[in-house]
Amino acid sequence: YLIEFLGFGGFILIGIPYFVIVSMIRLYGKKEKINKDLKIATDIGHNLSSFSTEKEVLDDFVKNIALMFKAEFTYLFDHKSGWLELLRSYEYGQFKDYKVERFAIDSRITKEIVVKKQSVIFEEKKDWVEDLGMHKYSSMQSAFGIPISRNEKIEGVLFVFSSKKRMFEKYQVQIADILCSYFTVSVEKARYLENKVKETELCALTNLYNYYYLDERIKFESKRLHEESIHHLSIIMLDIDYFKKVNDTFGHESGNIVLVEVAKILESYVPEHGIVGRYGGEEFVYVLPNVTKEDAINLAERVRVAIENRIFTVIPDLSKADTPLDISITISSGVSSMPRDTDDVKVLVRNADRALYLGAKQAGRNRVAGYIK
Ligand code: GH3
Ligand code: MG
Ligand code: MG
Repeated sequence: YLIEFLGFGGFILIGIPYFVIVSMIRLYGKKEKINKDLKIATDIGHNLSSFSTEKEVLDDFVKNIALMFKAEFTYLFDHKSGWLELLRSYEYGQFKDYKVERFAIDSRITKEIVVKKQSVIFEEKKDWVEDLGMHKYSSMQSAFGIPISRNEKIEGVLFVFSSKKRMFEKYQVQIADILCSYFTVSVEKARYLENKVKETELCALTNLYNYYYLDERIKFESKRLHEESIHHLSIIMLDIDYFKKVNDTFGHESGNIVLVEVAKILESYVPEHGIVGRYGGEEFVYVLPNVTKEDAINLAERVRVAIENRIFTVIPDLSKADTPLDISITISSGVSSMPRDTDDVKVLVRNADRALYLGAKQAGRNRVAGYIK
């Protein structure tokens, strides 16, 4: 109507207010979106710092980045002297495990991220496909990459891909950057906690659980038995035969090699829900919830045979770089169970010890003995 009367002026009269209103709505919409994204990012960040293992932090970070940016592919790379090595990947809403995926930092784009320490947004596929080398054939259309740094050093790179063109905006990358900072701090904290737990629960030589952990775990499992959450609790106490002779003949270092190897064998026989630990010098204990005495005796017998048949290679005198020597050893075990032998957790351990010394050691060693009342 206006055009009819005013000609081209009608366009201006209608057009200007229209574009102003549209721009205002857009600006308002964007502001709302930024606020919303910042709120989500803060929640993700706080949550990240609550995890106590590195794996939990990695998984939660990668997953939430994917959700927040509606990304089809999210990859977290570790930066190792000239290489980017894939740490965690999330594709189409699922974690994906690749055996080894790594590429050298020699492309223009990775150099920009790792060397210049800059985030990069790829608006179209052609911006990155040639250069990045990865997922050349995927259906992804846009992406961004962020350097993850700690103390001015690039520790990793985050890549996020979408199947839509021009999916990512600058402000989003800035938010992702803030999340990367939360991530670095959370990983560091989780690693520290994991190390502390390791120090207090594991034996430094064999990496098996230590005495303190075993003790706590036996008490915990016996409580579960009394609460009827489990119906049997068996323990196997094992002791290497004539171990002092190994030390005396081949040296303490050789003794240590044998202990580490024995620990590996014992670990390979741990049934589901069970654990094995180093109880003391050359003594080990299996804690076996819901395993009957008969089954525990059978397990101890299989372990005994495995150790009897194994050849251990020791080095008689490390300082002289002597030639390696092959030796054999044997192990004796005592088995006791709750409620079959006792209802008292202290007696359970004592019974296993008695079976070991009276039933197995005194009867000639290299054998398994169940506790007899
Ligand atoms: P038995 O068949 O009666 O068990 O004889 P044994 O020689 O194994 O028993 P004994 O208790 O006399 O000796 C245990 C030895 O284990 C003594 C100690 O030197 C050695 N031992 C304990 N802890 C370690 C360790 O961490 N490393 C090494 N190399 N030896 C250890
Ligand atoms: Mg011994
Ligand atoms: Mg001993």
